[in-house]
Amino acid sequence: MNRLENNNIALGADFLRHEMTPAASAAAGVEGYMEHDAAVYRTLLESTKAIPWKIDWATMEFAYIGPQIEALLGWAPSSWKTVQDWAARMHPEDREKVVEFCVAQSQAGTDHEADYRALTSRGEYVWLRDVVHVVRDARGDVESLVGFMFDISERKKTEEKLAALQRELEALSFKDSLTGVGNRRAFDASLEREWSAALRHAAPLSLVMVDIDFFKSYNDYYGHVQGDECLRRVAGVLSSAVRPGDFVGRFGGEEFVLLLPNTGADAARQVAERCRNRIAAEEIAHERSPFRQTVTASFGVGTTIPAGAADPVAFVNLVDTQLYHAKDNGRDCIAAVNRVG
Ligand code: GH3
Ligand code: MG
Ligand code: MG
Repeated sequence: MNRLENNNIALGADFLRHEMTPAASAAAGVEGYMEHDAAVYRTLLESTKAIPWKIDWATMEFAYIGPQIEALLGWAPSSWKTVQDWAARMHPEDREKVVEFCVAQSQAGTDHEADYRALTSRGEYVWLRDVVHVVRDARGDVESLVGFMFDISERKKTEEKLAALQRELEALSFKDSLTGVGNRRAFDASLEREWSAALRHAAPLSLVMVDIDFFKSYNDYYGHVQGDECLRRVAGVLSSAVRPGDFVGRFGGEEFVLLLPNTGADAARQVAERCRNRIAAEEIAHERSPFRQTVTASFGVGTTIPAGAADPVAFVNLVDTQLYHAKDNGRDCIAAVNRVG
């Protein structure tokens, strides 16, 4: 048994003394009782899952650390000599923040707790929660820190799984399940965000509304399943025709929307032209269509620089009107408006 381990036993009893309530100490006949039963208490302390430790404030050295630490992290108690050993065995991403926090709290004399990843001797990391109590001497000066380390890796795993599920759920709630593009909810959120940004920067914002032509007769002729497949293909074509910061969504039924931030009238019309050409190039057979028996779409395009009391809903309605004009003009075409102010 080396000096530190010897020390550990004596200090283990010392550590326990701090954990007794005054009433319990008095009832137990204080010192005598404690010395007598120190071994019992030490056994109890060292058989819990929580790992007790004590750091001497003056030297910043470990006065004691429970032997359970070796089973959890693989480092023998004798290898925990100073707070540097503690800090060095912390994940580099956690180290600075946790050490800084614990030092500040200890200096302020405040009990605290910190979660961090501790390095094992196998080079892996285990999530620990360190719960720290600041012990003061009779004059009120900080004398030592005592605490317990808890293995919280299972809890962290559950938390991480929950966070991943939450992210997945959030993504799903903004996605159209049929086509994978944004859904109506995502469009509403995107419009609100881009409208405010355009208003702030006096930047042009364009909206393209797309409606597949004669889609009812497509469904009647080919059936709903193939109708769904057609919607997926059109969504894919539209997604391929826009730039990264643009939004593509399904407005509902066989209607799609493209929201184009920082895009003026000419550029927006070009995007609509590109979509129209790419849908034609896709050559999706549509027996009932007068346009070379292939699927086509009509486009309403609008551009605005939001200002003052202008309203995004009115803008959407304006673009919708353009879409109706495109239908009235014979379909498979584009109608555009540039609204100033
Ligand atoms: P127009 O050229 O004037 O746009 O005529 P249209 O037939 O495309 O328009 P209408 O509004 O009459 O019909 C739209 C059709 O879209 C009706 C519906 O069966 C179909 N539709 C809407 N949602 C879905 C869907 O999720 N899947 C499938 N397969 N069809 C859908
Ligand atoms: Mg429609
Ligand atoms: Mg239609």
